[in-house]
Amino acid sequence: MNTPPSLLEVVQADFLHSFMFDMGRYLIGAGLIAAAVWLLSRTSWAARKIQRRRASRADFTREFSASVRTVLVFTVLAMPMVWAFQHGYLHQWSGTLTPLSYTLYLAAILLAHDSWFYWTHRAMHLPALYRSFHRFHHLTITPTAWTAYSFAIPEAAVSFLFMPVWLALVPTPNPVVFTFLALMILRNAMGHAGLELHPRGWAGHPLLKWISTTTHHDMHHGSSYNHNYGFYFTWWDKLMGTEHPDYVATFDRVTGARAVADQPLTTSASCQTTA
Ligand SMILES: [Zn+2]
Ligand SMILES: [Zn+2]
Repeated sequence: MNTPPSLLEVVQADFLHSFMFDMGRYLIGAGLIAAAVWLLSRTSWAARKIQRRRASRADFTREFSASVRTVLVFTVLAMPMVWAFQHGYLHQWSGTLTPLSYTLYLAAILLAHDSWFYWTHRAMHLPALYRSFHRFHHLTITPTAWTAYSFAIPEAAVSFLFMPVWLALVPTPNPVVFTFLALMILRNAMGHAGLELHPRGWAGHPLLKWISTTTHHDMHHGSSYNHNYGFYFTWWDKLMGTEHPDYVATFDRVTGARAVADQPLTTSASCQTTA
């Protein structure tokens, strides 16, 4: 039987590959949403721009370079995870994947990640943690798709940690993990797109309202740091009373094709940082 590789050997064999995978995931996910926004901005959907303010070149440079740093953090932290798989501390899923089991695994990991995101996000807004963990992400007042990974190093680590914690508890088929990682970056980039991408009536619809929108997370950046902490879904915010009271009205206004100039200006002046 072969001796499992040392951590150094894992780094030598997998570091570059892992970095390229996560970098590619960010560039493709954020790039696709940025391209969609660019194209839609040349149509009547331009009126769906959520804020009047435009992200500056300095915003883009800061967010893009921080996102590359986040990919580097993910890669460094992935090495012990790969090592743990090869030493039997984490277990590969084995079995026959059916459409039903694929769907159930995917639903479970999305629900778990949504909860992880909501509660770690709220924790990072606590005064004791905010400055070192989450302040950097909130330097962004007007998000774009490229804001997706704009995290300080500690927040990038918290974001990464979901994966090993989940895999330690639930060995998960690789196709499910791959779909989850693809959906995660796409929803993240959509949440930061700056242009509402969801159909009219979504936020007030009896079923669809439970799925988050671009306006939902945009308001967390541009209107109030104390509301809208969720990621894929809105139920934690609804359940915990942290959904912005003007969320549905803002969504309806943004998607109502009303001129951007009629919308209230959301700026950092209205933002507060409290727990
Ligand atoms: Zn954000
Ligand atoms: Zn926040």
